[in-house]
Amino acid sequence: MERITLYNGIELPMLGFGTFQITDHNECRRSVLSALKHGYRLIDTAACYGNEKAVGEAVKESGLERSEVSLVSKVWIQDSGRDATLRSFNKTLENLGTDYLDLYLIHMPFGDYYGSWRAMSGLLEEGRVKAIGVCNFSAARLTDLVLASGIAPMVNQVEMNPFCQQMKLRETMAKYGIALMAWAPFAEGQRNIFNTPAISRIADAHNRTNAQVILRFLMSEGAIVIPKSVHEERIRENAELSFTLSDSETEIMRSLDTVRAVILDTESTGQLPLGRA
Ligand code: NAP
Repeated sequence: MERITLYNGIELPMLGFGTFQITDHNECRRSVLSALKHGYRLIDTAACYGNEKAVGEAVKESGLERSEVSLVSKVWIQDSGRDATLRSFNKTLENLGTDYLDLYLIHMPFGDYYGSWRAMSGLLEEGRVKAIGVCNFSAARLTDLVLASGIAPMVNQVEMNPFCQQMKLRETMAKYGIALMAWAPFAEGQRNIFNTPAISRIADAHNRTNAQVILRFLMSEGAIVIPKSVHEERIRENAELSFTLSDSETEIMRSLDTVRAVILDTESTGQLPLGRA
């Protein structure tokens, strides 16, 4: 399993499993169990996904040691602010049946996220989380948070897929040593991503699928990927990534960038992502 070292020395697997929109308890438990069976060692959930309990049950049922699985969760907008974030964190731990998180994230750049950040910095000092970070933070918001708090997030979880490669944001993140965790690595299946000819040609050359080429590409760009599926066959497929892309194939993948979000652009629309991850 390939791993990445965050700037505070904590290691995370570069392949994780996403659980957004897996709302049925049993389906979530089954999917996470099958991810763990197929070698995933990082599970991404969130307070607002309503499935933390199912994730916790699956980890226990897997028979793996808690220390072998990295658990990531997030505080949602209505729990922004110091006290509400601490309450939400305790609930998350209770749901997951654990006494620490590997990574705790601010889910959206809205509300009193400075208060949340203070709470999370305290949790980090107390050792109740191993790393802290944010999601969907633009370059400007990241810079502002770093300057005002003096603590750079260890991770920024943002949309990243072949059509939205976040080149500019990645420059700012590199400056502060912030790792990128790519949500919607498949653009949630939009824009015909699984049948895009340029990707299919590369996939055929390696006897792989478009999904595998996309994940391999994003990881080789330095991103942690967290693909979601409720189908065991796809969960297995998405974890079989022992191949490399040539420089020219990487250039073809880079050329697919449209420099725009496919799924969610909170920054330029200012839209609250209600009902979304
Ligand atoms: P995604 O992983 O890009 O795409 C998931 C979709 O692709 C599902 O419809 C899935 O269908 C399908 N799929 C998966 N593997 C496939 C394969 N090998 N072949 C064909 N289809 C395949 O989208 P996502 O779930 O939105 O993003 C991943 C994770 O990122 C989420 O689950 C969540 O943990 C996180 N996330 C975070 C934020 C945030 O704001 N921080 C936002 C969105 C997502 P089936 O399930 O039917 O197989």
